Amino acid sequence: MPTRFIVAIDGPAGAGKSTIARALATALGFVYIDTGAMYRAVALRAVRASGDLSDETSMSECARACLIELLPDNRVLLDGEDVSGAIRTPEIAQAASKVSALPGVRCAMVALQRKLAESNSVVMEGRDIGTVVFPDAQAKVFLDASPEVRAARRVLEMRQKGIDADPARIAAEIRERDHRDSNRAEAPLTLAPGADYVDTSDMTPEQVIAALLQLVREKAGKDIQS
Ligand code: C5P
Repeated sequence: MPTRFIVAIDGPAGAGKSTIARALATALGFVYIDTGAMYRAVALRAVRASGDLSDETSMSECARACLIELLPDNRVLLDGEDVSGAIRTPEIAQAASKVSALPGVRCAMVALQRKLAESNSVVMEGRDIGTVVFPDAQAKVFLDASPEVRAARRVLEMRQKGIDADPARIAAEIRERDHRDSNRAEAPLTLAPGADYVDTSDMTPEQVIAALLQLVREKAGKDIQS
């Protein structure tokens, strides 16, 4: 493997990115970076301060002022507070989707994301990792699944955490967020040039992880030869 290897994983909500990216990072011994958690942390701070989520100036200031830490045990700290649970609500997901459309917010987060990968090999997941954050990543993957499968996975995930989830509401929430994330002017969710597209609708997590491990090994092999 080269000294620093970047695996970029993008895709819509509920495609299984977090589960897959985390397992892949463990298998490879890389650092796992959940960039969605970073936008959620900014959104949480803005919501708590009753900020105007569409105001570019104040939201950019908010993003720059946030001290966000992603711990190795997957906990997320915002200004030293453990917000791992607080950022996972549907309200904060929607708020994250709104603030992340603002260029100033993205600029602050992208800088932080690049810094986190400065001296580490990483598996980084989000919406713009292969297009904007690391367009030269050695491995780029777009994880997708049908809207029905994605909604069902999200419902199951929430119920496993003991959160009551209404399937129709979750499906609508995902649709709204995907539409906003894919149609915004700044860093929209799209297939990055050179990315491998993987439809996980009929695959188990184990099958997806095995496929991505194989892909990374192939790319790493090429990297070493070139
Ligand atoms: O991945 P997750 O669902 O936690 O992301 C929450 C929201 O953060 C997304 O709906 C998207 O609007 C935003 N996001 C983004 N760019 C990323 C990661 C997440 O715009 N790289």
